[in-house]
Parts: sequence; structure tokens; C-alpha cells
Amino acid sequence: MAEFGQAFTSQMVVSSFENDQWSTADVKPIGPFSFHPATHVLHYSSTCFEGLKAYRWVDGSIHLFRHHDNISRLRASAASLCLPVPPAELIEEAIINAVKAVTDEIPDLPGALYIRPTLIGTELNIGAAGRGSKNALLYVITSPVGDYFSGGVRPLKLLIDDENMRSTPKFGQVKTGGNYAASLGSVTSARAEYQADQVLFCPGGQVQETGAANFMILRGNDLITKKLDGSILPGITRNSILKLGADMGYQVHEIDFTVDELLNWLPDSEAFLSGTAAVLSPVGSVVYQGVGHTVGNGEVGERSMQLKQALTSIQHGKQEDRWHWTS
Ligand code: PMP
Repeated sequence: MAEFGQAFTSQMVVSSFENDQWSTADVKPIGPFSFHPATHVLHYSSTCFEGLKAYRWVDGSIHLFRHHDNISRLRASAASLCLPVPPAELIEEAIINAVKAVTDEIPDLPGALYIRPTLIGTELNIGAAGRGSKNALLYVITSPVGDYFSGGVRPLKLLIDDENMRSTPKFGQVKTGGNYAASLGSVTSARAEYQADQVLFCPGGQVQETGAANFMILRGNDLITKKLDGSILPGITRNSILKLGADMGYQVHEIDFTVDELLNWLPDSEAFLSGTAAVLSPVGSVVYQGVGHTVGNGEVGERSMQLKQALTSIQHGKQEDRWHWTS
């Protein structure tokens, strides 16, 4: 299978907002858009997006996981970027139409169809730095995917970056391209210099999240992650794992913690990333100021894998979904 996010299905869904009206969410063969060079998004980064998955269960039926939460987050991102906010029903219809159009292209488990709803500002206006785009395009593309990190389930290496920020303090909760652009330099050099898989952003020594997933610690009976304060993305997987963890008897702590505290915890902890793409990916070591630190015994944590199992068995329809997360 191609690397995550580099293969696309044959169809997409498009709806545009012009003259204060959304057009219907129409299926089209996937293909290029043509944009005037003065298009708002090309200058002012008026763009936000979502990432969610559809799964083909063993009985052949197709299911979305918590898509209403992705819809709410896209609407919140759109409002933060002063973009026209698409009605929830329109986004849902666009997602469902996009999945139905490519049913034959959805991989079997443990693969999935990754769904990428995207909203961009399309007003032709290069004098509009002071206000949002009046027009917008909502589109949904899809991608058949397997594992996010190459090499399947293995202990990842994270570089702790306490200098750079992936976002301004209140914009971390917005799923907008600018935040990812801000993290690229750090992630690229972490890969090149330390062979790290990802960067854990800890501006000013405060632990936040990685470039594309939330970060969690399992220590004794405690499940620890950064609290939501606008500076990190409110991950839907994060929320699911915290609920499942509490259900399994863990004490959940959504708190602020520092790199020093983290380094003290690591020898007798498990650590992992959580996200739609990463699912639950174990962390085996971190590098801080050029020094490597092992997480627990450096191997894939057994209890982290139990949490992953609890999550994926619901996503894959192998366990009763008493949370009503699948539809
Ligand atoms: N943080 C960042 C920066 C992300 O890009 C993602 C992936 N969307 C997440 C966290 C995890 O969010 P979710 O569980 O909703 O996919």
C-alpha cells in the first residue's frame, strides 16, 4: 500500500458558497481545481480541514467513527478563520456522498478509508487581509490507508522541541494549514538529525502535543495528557481513549505538565500518540537536548496495546459500541 495520504480514490464531493448560498454536495471524478491567482486562500491561508475514517466491517457494511465530532470541529475551525460556516447537515451529506461514491475502493480491515473534508476561502480579493473570504469551497476527498507510521506497530522515537511552537496559544485548537506549516521545519530536522519519527512540541518547557497527534502517558493507574486550553487540537481519538481508559479503571488526568516532570515519569511509564491516523502509536524513546531517554523498557507497552484494542474493536465493529460512536 502507498504511504499514508499518497493514494486517492476516484471520486470527490464539492459544494461551493457563493451569493450567500451553498450549492448541493455533488460527487465528481477527482481532479484538479482551477483557481484565479487572487483567490483568498492562496494569500491568507483561509483553510481548514478534518480527518476521519470509514471502516469496512467483516460483514461488508461501512461505518463512520464519530463523524459528528469532526463536523463540529470543522465548523469551529471555519468560524475561527472567518470563513462561511457550512451547515452540519451539508458537511454530513458531503462526507456520506464521498464514502458512498467509492464503496468499492474501501480497503478491508485493518485498513480504512481516510476522509479529508476541506474548506477554503475562494473570494477573489487580495485587499482582504482584514476580513474573511465571502466565498468558500467545501470539498471531500478520500484515501485508502493502512498504518500511519511505516513499519507497523513499533516503539516510536520523539524529539522534544522546547523552542518552537506549532501554533499561537489560542489557535492550536483550529485544524488549519498554518499550524502544520509552522511545524514542518522542526519535524523535518528532527527526522534528518535524530531519525525521530515525530516532534513533541513543548514551548517554554510545557508539554503540548506532536505535529499530528495528541500525546499521552500511562503511569501506574494514571492516564495523563495535556488539558485542553486552546493551544492543542481537541483530538477525537484523545477523547475516546480518555473515556475508554476511565472505563477500564484508570485515573484520568487532563493537566499541564513540564518536560522535567515528563522525563522523571518516563522510566516507569508507557507513552503513546493518539489520533485518527496514528490511532494509538506507542513511544519507545524521546530525545531532549541531544540526550536519549527510554520510555519504560523501550518496547511497545502492553497496557497501551490493551487501550488500543479497546478502541479499534469498537471502530472495527468487533465489540458492542455502547458509546454510540459508530454509525
Ligand atoms: N493533534 C494534531 C495536531 C492533529 O493533526 C491531530 C490529527 N487530526 C490530532 C491531534 C488528533 O486528532 P484526532 O484524534 O481528532 O484525529
